[in-house]
Amino acid sequence: MSARPDAVVIGGGVIGLTTAIILQESGLTVQIWTGAPPESTTSAVAGATWFPYRAHPVDRVLAWSVRSKAYFDSMTDDPQTGVRIRESLQLWREELGTDPWWASAVPDLDRCAEEDLPDGYLGAYRFTQPVVTMPVHLPYLTRRFRDGGGTLVPRSVESLGEAAKAADVSVNCTGMAARDLSRDTGLIPVRGQWVRVTNPGITKVVADFGHPDGEAYIIPHEDSCILGGTADEGAWETTPSMDTAAAIIARCAELDPRLADARVLEHRAALRPVRPSGVRLELDDKHDSGGVLVHNYGHGGSGVTLSWGCAEEVKNLVLSRI
Ligand SMILES: Cc1cc2nc3c(=O)[nH]c(=O)nc-3n(C[C@H](O)[C@H](O)[C@H](O)COP(=O)(O)OP(=O)(O)OC[C@H]3O[C@@H](n4cnc5c(N)ncnc54)[C@H](O)[C@@H]3O)c2cc1C
Repeated sequence: MSARPDAVVIGGGVIGLTTAIILQESGLTVQIWTGAPPESTTSAVAGATWFPYRAHPVDRVLAWSVRSKAYFDSMTDDPQTGVRIRESLQLWREELGTDPWWASAVPDLDRCAEEDLPDGYLGAYRFTQPVVTMPVHLPYLTRRFRDGGGTLVPRSVESLGEAAKAADVSVNCTGMAARDLSRDTGLIPVRGQWVRVTNPGITKVVADFGHPDGEAYIIPHEDSCILGGTADEGAWETTPSMDTAAAIIARCAELDPRLADARVLEHRAALRPVRPSGVRLELDDKHDSGGVLVHNYGHGGSGVTLSWGCAEEVKNLVLSRI
């Protein structure tokens, strides 16, 4: 292992990687310690659209989302980032009321005219959003970190104190595992499952979160589409259920009938780290290592959406203390 770094980031998912990059790009030497490689994390299972969903509290989530969107917008010219902007249609089975709470983060938010609505829907929002292909984005983040001089260390910690002893700054980006590491029973799993199928020519994100049988969403990537989904609170099972997969495909085929015949490529399920009391992004003044410990976990269904904004806030907290 190299010389004592200024900072150790625990966790190599999207939150740990972006936090490590921002700290490094502010001039610190940084190591990431991670139990699992980036491609084996929950982050690798994210759909992934930029959209604030199942993360709290609203005001902080909105601010982090806006900051992150600026980063994603700036990446869309480089295909190696895995980020591109896509049109999106969010369908509602009830009439739309006042603008949604996230409207200020989406400057091109528009309402569909009644005559453009598919049968069965009473309203729809149209907007553009970044779509992030995680099997491309996570390697991009890893490269950016390594090219900047960072080291990714395969290492699982038993306690946060291990990292706190190894550097003046440590950051806890362990996602769902923070429940044990930080003894935080307020962090709960919300299981999500999806099916990846061949793309029959779909270019728009379409979502119906109010489908009576469960969520239905289609996220097109280059040559495949991710079809979702589920949101099972308190469920810990990460093996995909084939019955659930069949129901997901049926719901998505209601949104686009071409999907009924698409070839299935992959099934995945993972746990969104949801913290109803709010994402834990704060300095920990109670720990006794003498260094600076920051927590950055509990991003729920929005880890990608919030990643850069949260990483910036961690940097500001760290720089205020060293
Ligand atoms: C089906 C599904 C779809 C989703 N879609 C979206 C989406 O479209 N948009 C969006 O923004 N979000 C989405 N999410 C949410 C997103 O995936 C999560 O919010 C995000 O992955 C959390 O990132 P993280 O880095 O905190 O956690 P993780 O990706 O779980 O990473 C945690 C890291 O900590 C490491 N670690 C844990 N314990 C230890 C230890 N003791 N020692 C060392 N390392 C440790 C792990 O090995 C891992 O590297 C989705 C989630 C699911 C399940």
